[in-house]
Amino acid sequence: MKTPILVLSMLCLLLCLSPMSMAVEYDGPEIKRWTKMEKDDKGEMKEVKYMTIDGIMVHEDDPKIQPQPTVITPGTESSPENAGTAPSDAIVLFDGSSLKSWTDTKGKKTKWKLDGGALSPTKVSGMIQTRQKFGSCQLHLEWATPGKTEGSGQGRGNSGVFLMGQYEVQILDNYRNTTYPDGQAGALYGRSKPLVNASRKPGEWQSYDIIFHRPVFENGEVVKRATFTVFHNGVLIQDHYELTGGTGWEGGSSISGYTPHADQGPLQLQDHGNPVLFRNIWVRELED
Ligand code: MG
Repeated sequence: MKTPILVLSMLCLLLCLSPMSMAVEYDGPEIKRWTKMEKDDKGEMKEVKYMTIDGIMVHEDDPKIQPQPTVITPGTESSPENAGTAPSDAIVLFDGSSLKSWTDTKGKKTKWKLDGGALSPTKVSGMIQTRQKFGSCQLHLEWATPGKTEGSGQGRGNSGVFLMGQYEVQILDNYRNTTYPDGQAGALYGRSKPLVNASRKPGEWQSYDIIFHRPVFENGEVVKRATFTVFHNGVLIQDHYELTGGTGWEGGSSISGYTPHADQGPLQLQDHGNPVLFRNIWVRELED
């Protein structure tokens, strides 16, 4: 029995001392490292380190191997008075000028109104949704709850943005207005409370920047859960949160599970009976 153990130990030692290290096995890009003896500027032999990530050398500058990122023009920041603009590679969904990208949930003309560059629901107008459908995406939108506060809890400045027409990031006036944490502004409704309450005062413009990766379904089962990263007024409030299911109301103490759906769906804004305003809405599609 001694010989095999000795052979194994020797083999292990040899592998550890080998200058050519093996590829590390883990999920994600493949990393390879090795060293080579090379002459330096003074003609002396030196050990030089090399490393590739998914087959591309670190600091590669040949554009045929490592293309330069596409140049885009970033948008402008919003101010309290004026809406900012979208980056040049975004799909603009609302820039204050028209409702052409939106319909009601049946694909018909919406009753939401356009007033002073802002969009808002009217009485019993129902939800609004984009004509175009999206899967994984980066979404920017700005909203303001009514300056004149009415109601409390979930009844004050309630709306919401639904990714793929399914998954709600709650919009609510939570400035000195408490409600259940997994239903406050920035919550993934019923699933995940925001890390902090970064709410501005009612009537003030607020922003969401959302990075969403869609769930993947196979044979009626979710095989990859959706993830959300959300910034509220520039503050991280959902940190790559893996959504454990749907966000649909199922009574006071329950929320819907995952239900298989298409790879793309419309973005929706909720009419919850409160005249919440929206402006500067744009989206950039992402790879899954
Ligand atoms: Mg809501």
